[in-house]
Amino acid sequence: MAEQHFDLIAIGGGSGGLSVVERAARHGARCALVESSRLGGTCVNVGCVPKKVMWYAAHLAHALDDAPGYGFRLDYFGFDWKKLKNARDAFVQGINEWYLGYLRDAGVELIRGFARFIGAHTLEVDGEHYTADHIVIATGGRPQVPPLPGAEFGMTSDGFFALQTCPPRVALVGSGYIAVELAGMLNALGSEVTLLVRKDHVLRPFDVMLREQLMERLREDGISVLTQTQVRAVVRLANGALSVHCDGQVSVLQVDALIWATGREPNTDALDLTVAGVMAQSDGVIPTDAYQNTNVPGVYAIGDVTERFHLTPVAIAASRRLADRLFGGQPERRLSYENIPTVVFTHPPIGTVGLTEEEARTRYGDAVKIYQTQFRPMYHAFTARQPHMVMKLVCIGPEEKIVGGHLIGEGADEILQGFAVAIRMGATKRDFDDTVAIHPTSAEEWVTMR
Ligand SMILES: Cc1cc2nc3c(=O)[nH]c(=O)nc-3n(C[C@H](O)[C@H](O)[C@H](O)COP(=O)(O)OP(=O)(O)OC[C@H]3O[C@@H](n4cnc5c(N)ncnc54)[C@H](O)[C@@H]3O)c2cc1C
Repeated sequence: MAEQHFDLIAIGGGSGGLSVVERAARHGARCALVESSRLGGTCVNVGCVPKKVMWYAAHLAHALDDAPGYGFRLDYFGFDWKKLKNARDAFVQGINEWYLGYLRDAGVELIRGFARFIGAHTLEVDGEHYTADHIVIATGGRPQVPPLPGAEFGMTSDGFFALQTCPPRVALVGSGYIAVELAGMLNALGSEVTLLVRKDHVLRPFDVMLREQLMERLREDGISVLTQTQVRAVVRLANGALSVHCDGQVSVLQVDALIWATGREPNTDALDLTVAGVMAQSDGVIPTDAYQNTNVPGVYAIGDVTERFHLTPVAIAASRRLADRLFGGQPERRLSYENIPTVVFTHPPIGTVGLTEEEARTRYGDAVKIYQTQFRPMYHAFTARQPHMVMKLVCIGPEEKIVGGHLIGEGADEILQGFAVAIRMGATKRDFDDTVAIHPTSAEEWVTMR
């Protein structure tokens, strides 16, 4: 059988795969990309993009509640979920199509189908064979469903994006960012939401201030957060509702929809990695060194199949740097995984970068100094809701170098990016103090903390 040969093939047309082929092709490499589903991967189809649309809708719902405080007399009648879903699907489809042009303009060959290894540098897709000097595994991940009786009656975040109507009563299982984000959106858009959390807190790896503040906000907004509660089984009732059987703060809960947000697993099980000699952990994650190399020369892994931050800009940044290293004459180019900023799109949103207070104390002991402020943003001076904004700076040493920044409150999502630049550049508390505030904003509190 004739084989087609490329300089680089990426498996997976998501954030990582698309970025590596585009950058490599711009450096002059002959590239192909294999995708078995829609272009754009998780982020575009069932992740960041449709989620942010829903977050905006939820944000508007809160703004409508706030408006009477500003003198508006509003009569509004419900919310048309189906209309928003159709508009959202069309928006996503537009991005899918845009990526066709993105690949075409870069001169990348798109191979439609499911790839698996038949050699270290050979792939099989729908019976055709393709070889490459460099193969990038960027196959992403998928939501996990726990092995419980009746688990199949629940849905995952993928199912959430397929919902045709807003379920009146929803149970969300999980404590990570996807669980709290979906809980906030559904609550704002009209569902009665119960969040079932196995341990004591949501967002466990985050700074303690954020975890505690978010739990308060979720409860203030009317979400029932049940900690130390584990689902044991799910039963579908004759009327279509679900009966969720738990150990913990509740024993049986009746809902119209159950969403599992209990983690994600990498898409590596069907790749035949062993044929290529590529090592994976027992959970399917592919270990890589700092340069995204797997244990097999010329085979790389990027994005959600690796163990590092599972975020779109991380997959994109690592991919572009890999392409620069392989084809752009920059042999040391790689992504530093320190100080990666991230936002959790709750209501209000959370922004976080660098070390948590706990991590800093473990690493630097008494050299840590914390600055924290809590205030009611001026916007909420007139609203029925009165959520506080809380900001925390984690500093170290006599020069008070800032090693972490954490905030929750209106606008946190947009405030964080510039701050992340400063922290990456090694800013100290003094640099912040010497920066003139922008008034009146919430962001000015970053530079006026005592
Ligand atoms: C609900 C949700 C919300 C999120 N929100 C955010 C957010 O706000 N901000 C953020 O930064 N990140 C967010 N993420 C995470 C982000 O989507 C991922 O980190 C990112 O998409 C990872 O990119 P990737 O290239 O590694 O994989 P993916 O984007 O998952 O792409 C992998 C692609 O590979 C394809 N594929 C798999 N196996 C094969 C095969 N054998 N052959 C051919 N094709 C294959 C898949 O079809 C898929 O298209 C969110 C994720 C979820 C689930």
